[in-house]
This record gives sequence, structure tokens and C-alpha cells, in this order.
Amino acid sequence: MKIHEYQAKEILRRFGVPVQPGKIATTASEAESIAAGFGGPVVVKAQVYVGGRGKAGGVKLAQTPAEAREVAGRILGMDIKGLTVEKVLVTPALNIKEEYYLGVILDRASRTPVVLVSAAGGIDIEEVAAKTPEKIIRFPIDLRWGLLPMDARQLLARAGVPSVVVARGGAILSQLARAFVESDATLAEINPLALTPDGQVIAADAKIIIDDNALPRQKEYASWAEPEEANPLEYEAKAEGLTYVKLDGDVGVIGNGAGLVMTTLDMVARAGGKPANFLDIGGGAKAEVMKKALLFVAHDPQVKGILVNIFGGITRGDEVARGIIMAQEELPKGMPIVARLSGTGEAEGRALLANAGLTWGADMRDACQKIVAEIAAKGN
Ligand code: GDP
Ligand code: MN
Repeated sequence: MKIHEYQAKEILRRFGVPVQPGKIATTASEAESIAAGFGGPVVVKAQVYVGGRGKAGGVKLAQTPAEAREVAGRILGMDIKGLTVEKVLVTPALNIKEEYYLGVILDRASRTPVVLVSAAGGIDIEEVAAKTPEKIIRFPIDLRWGLLPMDARQLLARAGVPSVVVARGGAILSQLARAFVESDATLAEINPLALTPDGQVIAADAKIIIDDNALPRQKEYASWAEPEEANPLEYEAKAEGLTYVKLDGDVGVIGNGAGLVMTTLDMVARAGGKPANFLDIGGGAKAEVMKKALLFVAHDPQVKGILVNIFGGITRGDEVARGIIMAQEELPKGMPIVARLSGTGEAEGRALLANAGLTWGADMRDACQKIVAEIAAKGN
């Protein structure tokens, strides 16, 4: 489960990590009065569940309360990577001299939390990992004793963090590692860890993801859930009784049953395509549900074509075909759709599709190749 920066900072604060005080505003005038309360320059920061807010214009410095009001007014309501900003964090501005990166991730391959340290902080760590992986020092945490202070300091030194920062930064890294383990996190990051001209070392940004499977025992964090904000489409789908997961390709994928849908994703990739989503309509879906699923997937502006892969059992092929035909009127003009129907109602379904002039695949592989080819033929 994702949580906001201000919530991640609250967790870190409890584990002893230095963070700036901060308050949440949902209106520009609230931001102004918070800034007036702090006195001096503040930073106004969009609270949305994505990184890269700075680059997107969601983090702004304000010298005066009036300016805080003005920038908060611009940031609130802003769209950042598909998420609407509904609240901002107002926090006294730091004078930042240098920025470092500290992180802990759950490494599933080695089945242990791994600490990541880099002197190249402030920027996107994925970019550092891709271009200059040698700038990131990795170290597994032994869960029997956690990250020892000596190891933590040594990691910072090896990463090239200046020696004046090593002692305090090492303590923060150990605290971050403890926060990670005790909060049942799958990721905990401080980026940037800031060094100020007067020698303070402080977490200027924080990101924590809590393991969903741990929410029953992390009751406080569970109460912070904002499913609607985390992923508006997934939330909406759930309300409609559909299981939907957004991915980042352009082929919409609809199927019945999680196993079939996952296999379809693999097959689309093998055919050279990139799935845009995972949508499972479940068992026994009627035409109405199929139509709803298609319109839902087409709603994603990244989707350039849709593949429907149904193995008929309690879901009937003819019902599915009827749903596809019903959806035609409301779907964007020229949106390629390829269906593969197999099992119960297969023949009736195919006949209906053929009558309506729609494409079907002889089998799953054929259907995947057809949709990828149709999207490519359409261009862009
Ligand atoms: P992100 O872009 O979502 O990771 O948001 P961050 O909180 O990391 O902010 C982005 C960048 O804004 C940071 O890397 C800093 O360079 C800058 N920034 C954030 N807070 C402050 C601050 O208090 N003072 C100054 N001078 N810069 C800040
Ligand atoms: Mn950041």
C-alpha cells in the first residue's frame, strides 16, 4: 500500500530520523496560514502517490505566506501522472548544499531486505541505476540483528558520502532500516537526504510502501488507505465487480480467470506487443459485463487496441460476442478489437462476430498476433 510523503515522514520521525515539521493543506488559504505560522520561506509539495513530483511542477519554494498561497493554488488540482493533487504538504524550506540517496527494498531474489546508498541523490534513482550502477552501493540486511551502525557508516563512506555526513547519515540509515522492518515495508526511501550549509543532515523527502499482506497487523497504516487516490481506475473497476490492473503498454487485455489473463499477457509480449492492462471479468459474465469491460479498457488513453480472450465454460462465447457487438457503438471509431473464443458457445459466438464484421483469432496465439499487427498497421 502506498502512503503519502507526510505519512512516511511521520513513520521515520518515530524511528528517530530528523525530518522538518510540516502541515497538510487542502486549500490555498490554509497553505498561507500554515506558512505564516512557520514564518520564513516554505516548500509547498503535492501529496500524490507518485515520484518525480519536483519535475512535474508539484514542489515549489515560497518566500512569503502570500506566495505560499499562490503556489498552493497552482499545485492543488494539478494532474501529476494521472493523479489529481488534493492536498499539499507545507514545510519550512531547507537550504540544501548536497543531496544523497538512502533506500531499503525487499529483494525477492535474495529473500532479504537490501540497503541501497548513493552519493548521487535528489535525482531519479532508477536513472542512476541504469546509467551509472557503480554509484549505488548495495548491502543485504541480516534480519537477526538488523543493519549494524558500523556497517551503515561504512556503506556511506563506500558510496562516497563526505566524511562529515557519515556518522549522522549512518545513524539515519540504521533507523531507516529499522523503520522498514518494523513497518512491514516493501520499500523505504529517503531521496534526497539533505546536507545543509550549517551541517544538518535531514530527510527532505520520504517514500514508504507497506506490504499489503501486513495490513491486518499494521492497523494504523491500514487506516491511511486512500484506494481511490492510489489508482482511480482500479478503484472504479472494483466497484463494477471487475479485477483491473493498469500496465504501461498499449494492448488492452480482457479475459476470464486470472490464470488465463496472465498467460495472455505473456502471449501478447511474445507476439511483440505490450499489454496496457490486466482485466479479469471472472466467471459467468453476461454480455452487459463484457460491454462494460471493453468500454472500461478503452477509457485508458494509452490503449490502441483490445484483445478479448475467453475460455467458455460458465462464461458463454455467444454472450461475450453479443457484449463486444453491443460495445461497438460506444467504442472509439476504428479501435481494433480481436476476440478469441473457445469452449461453450464458441460456434455461436464466432458466427455473431463474423456477421458483425469483427475479427477473431483461431487460437490464442493467432489472436495475439492479430491484435499486435492491427495496432502496428494503424501506426503511432
Ligand atoms: P520528488 O520530485 O517527488 O522526489 O520530490 P522531492 O521532495 O524529492 O523534491 C524534489 C526536489 O526538490 C528535491 O530533490 C530538492 O532538490 C528540492 N527540494 C525539496 N525540498 C526542498 C527544500 O526544502 N529546500 C530546497 N532548497 N529544495 C528542496
Ligand atoms: Mn524525492
